[in-house]
Amino acid sequence: MTSIAQQIQAISNDLTATAKLVAVSKTKPNEAVLEAYQAGQRVFGENKVQELVAKYEALPKDIEWHMIGHLQTNKVKYIAPFVHLIHGVDSEKLLKEINKQAAKVDRIQPVLLQMHIAQEETKFGLNTEELNAIVEHVNQGMYPNIQVSGLMGMATNTENQTQIAQEFKALQALFTELKNTHFKNNANFKELSIGMSNDYKIALEYGATLIRVGSSIFGARNYTI
Ligand SMILES: *Cc1c(COP(=O)(O)O)cnc(C)c1O
Repeated sequence: MTSIAQQIQAISNDLTATAKLVAVSKTKPNEAVLEAYQAGQRVFGENKVQELVAKYEALPKDIEWHMIGHLQTNKVKYIAPFVHLIHGVDSEKLLKEINKQAAKVDRIQPVLLQMHIAQEETKFGLNTEELNAIVEHVNQGMYPNIQVSGLMGMATNTENQTQIAQEFKALQALFTELKNTHFKNNANFKELSIGMSNDYKIALEYGATLIRVGSSIFGARNYTI
């Protein structure tokens, strides 16, 4: 058995100069987060609001908490005061609510726009049309309490490495295009959140700046989410 600290070290050694590890601690106890924290990890990801809030309250305050999963609009208010980055913005309705709640707590909330890149229909994410509408409205100044920091995507759950690589490559191309056009003068648009335990090495080849790794660090989860 390798320890949490050893796994974090091993994955950190794989990172490119521009990539950061988001340790996905969902379903794992506070003790496991603390073990990672003691190994120097400060960035953690959760996908359930209730669990994210409970961990934020119980654990050291210099942890950067990332909301990585599908976020319901009615729950945004619980995390708006502290969440570092919301990865999964998959509708304009959600963006609008985040803007509203961020304004209430006087914050500019960094978010990533989640694109649908997988073959599975079950996965969340925007299509190109929805993305274009959001980008246009952001640039018109409709969401003053939002900072669009980049894109997020989840590849198809498959053994086919070529397919995963194609999906990441397409998202990287879109990211680069946006960076050179709509976000040309915006240094904050810099994050590409791709890659999980099974595919983070491929993601790093396609420009990942954030990889979201859970089971490789903390072990398999008792139930899948
Ligand atoms: C659970 C989860 C991860 C981490 O998955 P692992 O396969 O355990 O590394 C990454 N991203 C999202 C959105 C998740 O929900």
